[in-house]
Amino acid sequence: MTADPLPTGSTIGILGGGQLGRMLCAAASRLGMRTHVLADGPDPPAGQLANRVSISCYNDLEILRRFAKSVDVATYEFENIPASTIDTVAGFCQVRPGRSALVASQDRLVEKSFLRDIGVDVAPFVGIENRSELLDAAKAIGFPAILKSRRLGYDGKGQARLRTVHDVERAMNAVGNKPAILEQHVAFDLEISVIGARAVRGSKVCYNPGENVHENGILRTTRVPARISNEIENRAVSISETIMDMLDYVGVIGVEFFVSGEELLVNEFAPRVHNSGHWTQNGCAIDQFEQHIRAICNWPLGDARRHADVTMVNIIGKEVTTVQELARKSDHAIHLYGKSEARPGRKMGHVNKISPTSGG
Ligand code: ATP
Ligand code: MG
Repeated sequence: MTADPLPTGSTIGILGGGQLGRMLCAAASRLGMRTHVLADGPDPPAGQLANRVSISCYNDLEILRRFAKSVDVATYEFENIPASTIDTVAGFCQVRPGRSALVASQDRLVEKSFLRDIGVDVAPFVGIENRSELLDAAKAIGFPAILKSRRLGYDGKGQARLRTVHDVERAMNAVGNKPAILEQHVAFDLEISVIGARAVRGSKVCYNPGENVHENGILRTTRVPARISNEIENRAVSISETIMDMLDYVGVIGVEFFVSGEELLVNEFAPRVHNSGHWTQNGCAIDQFEQHIRAICNWPLGDARRHADVTMVNIIGKEVTTVQELARKSDHAIHLYGKSEARPGRKMGHVNKISPTSGG
C-alpha cells in the first residue's frame, strides 16, 4: 500500500470538518481526488466542499468502519480526535500522519517530554496534578510562569499566567482543576513557525519560517519573511526535520518556536496543516494543503520555495463584515470559510497581502 502513489480519483478521508479540512478538500479536488469528511457537528465548513460528508461523534464504531472502508487513505485536520478513533480507522486503511504524532500532540506533558527526550530545547516545565503540586512546581520554575491544561487547549484556551504564589488557586481553577503543565514564561523577542512536510519514503521539505503575532491567545498575523537570521532559520528547519523523522511522520506539520536572541525553543507542534501556513496559498507554487495531500497520497512533494512576501491576517468574528473593503485592494487574496455565524473569537477567514519578491 505504501509503494504506489494513489491514483487520481482515489478518496481521501478527513477526520474533522473545520476550515483546515475545507482547504484540504479544495487541494485534493485540484489533484482530481475525492474527499469524504467525517465531522461531529452540523454544517461543517469542510462539508461544503467534500464529495461526501458523514456527521457523527468520533467513537461510533459502525460509522467509523463505514467511513474507513469508503476511503483509500485517511488523515485528520485537528489533533483532538481520540486515539481510539484512529485505531479503528487504521484497521481498514492507512492513517497519515500516524498515531504517534497524534498522541504526542494531544497531551502537552507527553509532547514536551518527547521533545526534550529527542534533544530539542523547550522552556522548563513540570507536570502537575493538583494545587499543592502546582505550588511546589511554581517555586521550582519561578515566576512568571504559565499553567496550561494538558489536553484540549487551543487558541490560548485553558491557560493561566502566574505572577506570584497568590495566583496558584486562580490558575488551578482556570484550567478546570485538571492535570496541567507549568511552563516558565519565555521573554521571547518573536514567535516563528515552520511548516514542514515529510513523504512516505522520508524525503522532506520546509517552507520559510513565518513570524507570528498572537492577540488574546489567537493567531492574528503571520508574515514572511520572518525577521530572523539565516542561522536561526536553518536551526528551526533542522529541528522541524528532526521532529518529523523521529515521529516517522507523513504529511504536513506545524512547529511553533520562541526566539530570544540566539536562543530557539520549541513551544509546540501540530500534526496537521497550520493556520500560520496559510500564507503559502499565495506565496508558493505548492501550498501547505496540496503538500499535505501529496504526502499522504504518496506523491512527490512539491516545491516549497517562496515567490512573494506575504502577510496573512486572520479575519475573526465580526471582522468578516469588512470583506468588501478588503476585496477592493488588488493585492489582498481573500479566503473565507463559509461559516454563517460570526461568533466573537471565531476564525471566519483570512487574507493574504502579497508583494512579489524581485529575484529568484
Ligand atoms: P494555538 O492553538 O494558537 O497554537 P495553544 O492554545 O495551543 O495555541 P500555545 O501555543 O501553547 O497554546 O500558547 C499560545 C500562545 O501563548 C503562544 O503562541 C505564546 O504567544 C503564548 N505562550 C505560550 N506559552 C508561553 C511561554 N511558556 N512563554 C511565553 N509565552 C507563551
Ligand atoms: Mg500554539
